[in-house]
Parts: sequence; C-alpha cells; structure tokens
Amino acid sequence: MPMIEVQDLHKAYGERKAVDGVTFAVEEGEIFGILGPNGAGKTTTVECVAGLRAPDRGTVRVAGLDPAAQHTDVTRLLGVQLQQSELQAKLTVREALELYASFHERPADWRALAERLGLEGQLGVRYAKLSGGQRQRLFIALALVGDPRAVILDELTTGLDPRGRRDTWALVEDIRRGGVTVLLVTHFMEEAQRLCDRVAVIDRGRVTALDTPGGLIRRAGTARTVSFAADTPLDRADLLALPGAVSVETVDGRTVLTGDDATVDAFVPLLARRGVTARGLRVSDATLDDAYLDLTGADQ
Ligand code: ATP
Repeated sequence: MPMIEVQDLHKAYGERKAVDGVTFAVEEGEIFGILGPNGAGKTTTVECVAGLRAPDRGTVRVAGLDPAAQHTDVTRLLGVQLQQSELQAKLTVREALELYASFHERPADWRALAERLGLEGQLGVRYAKLSGGQRQRLFIALALVGDPRAVILDELTTGLDPRGRRDTWALVEDIRRGGVTVLLVTHFMEEAQRLCDRVAVIDRGRVTALDTPGGLIRRAGTARTVSFAADTPLDRADLLALPGAVSVETVDGRTVLTGDDATVDAFVPLLARRGVTARGLRVSDATLDDAYLDLTGADQ
C-alpha cells in the first residue's frame, strides 16, 4: 500500500478549478516532489492530503486512511510544514516544541529533535529573533515532533541563502534516512533534482509529467549544451546541420549550441574541419530546469 495516494483529486474555489484531476502515489520511504508554476494547485493538493481541505471529488489516502474523515488519525501519521507558516513572535523555540509535542499522544523527544536540527543553542530564543534558516529548521522540527511516518514540506527553502538551502537539503535526506516518507513541494529544480526519487509536475491543476528527475530530463527533448567563443565565427547553418542540433544562440558574445550527445560528438570534428579554435569551451548536461520549462511551457 502506498503511504500517500491521491486519485482523481478535484478542488475548486468558486469558479476557479485549483486542482483538476490530480493522481499520484507516494511509496513508503520515498522523497516525492511536486513541482509547478505559481498557482498550479500544489498547495491545494497537499492541503487535501493533510486533511486541511476537503476535496470536491476524488480520493486521498494516507496509510489507507481518509484525511478528511479520519483527520485525528492522520495527524498522528503525517507531519505538516506548510508554506508561510508563522508562530507567535514571543514564543521561544523551547515553548513552541513543548506546545506542539503536547498535541501528540506519543511525541518524539523534542530535545533530541532540536539537537538533530541544530537548534539546541536557540531553545531560549524567541521566534521573532530567529533567522530565516533557524525558522525553517524550527518548522521542520515542529512537523517531526509527532514522530510521523510521513511529512509534507511545502516550499521549505524559499528565502534561504545557498548555504541554508544546502543545510536544509541535508536535513531532508536525514529525515528520510530515519524512515520518514517525504512529500516535498518546491519551485527549485535543483532541489528536486538533488532530493527527489520521483517528481510530479503539476500545471493548471493537472499532473503533466510524473517520473524520476533523470526520466524527466530524458523526456525533455534538449539534453546537452555546448557553449564557446570562436576566434572566427562558425556558420550557423553548419552548427544546425550537426546531428541532433536543436538551436544556436549568442549569449554574452558566446555561441550556445543545444542538442544531444550526437551533437556534442560531432562538434569537435566540425571545429577541426573549419580550422576554428573555440575558447572557453563548456559542455553541459541539461538540468531539470530545462525539462521543467519544456514540460510546463512556464516562463519561470
Ligand atoms: P504557489 O506556487 O504560488 O504557491 P500553488 O501551486 O501552491 O501556487 P495553490 O495555492 O494551490 O497553487 O492555488 C491554486 C489556485 O487556486 C490559484 O489560482 C490560487 O489563486 C487559487 N486559490 C488558492 N487558495 C485559494 C483560496 N483560499 N480561495 C480562492 N482561491 C484560491
């Protein structure tokens, strides 16, 4: 049985269809990502999974339970960190952890959790005085304090600096190593690529793709890029005639050729044939960013 199962989920706000037939299943122990542009229906979907909104149609199950009808049982199994969570400014880290632990019959040891999340030095610090990264760690701790089997993390690293994001990723990996299933909503492709076993791309309330990050990248047509500055210009038509070549652009004085493995293999012999030297030659693999733009047609 999957840990989280969403089948043909529909949810509208008045006339606006926020979720329009979403289906996916998250296996136990998985880190499953939900990616998509603003307003795609990601938060509405996970709010239905958490039992915070009732679906108009479709089924949602968490460990076989219905979060809308069996909300109390589901809150024992599922920890939730939602986008734009806030706490009272004067609450200290210790008070927040104690308070949230008191909501659960069998809470985790909150002191151990604080230590694991690097918050042991902040126990007496009020919420208002915490940095963005410390707040995020506190929200992760609060989502885990009920000792859940699964956790929803919604836009966990928004607003964090690169180090904060990397530290948080290490935490998410640590959570999974502890046996907790993770449903992760994110805007950051790098985050999904690094963390997720599988990703559902949601666009306009529907799942437009569901695959491993590698599978999504392979599915998006353009796989590799060659960029260089040439001492003598290469003929655009020559580049586009290479096998698998898709496009040629000039970016900051550099030529950027997009294609696939065959394009890269044929590129160097072309330079030799034309007697052209390419300076600062860089070959890069496509990222989930490229795949995402391909799959959503989104401008972000
Ligand atoms: P973002 O990435 O911007 O957080 P999202 O993918 O999480 O977006 P949702 O927050 O689920 O998307 O919103 C889906 C759609 O439903 C949007 O058009 C949004 O404006 C609308 N919506 C969300 N919550 C409400 C609400 N409480 N009342 C009315 N409309 C809402």
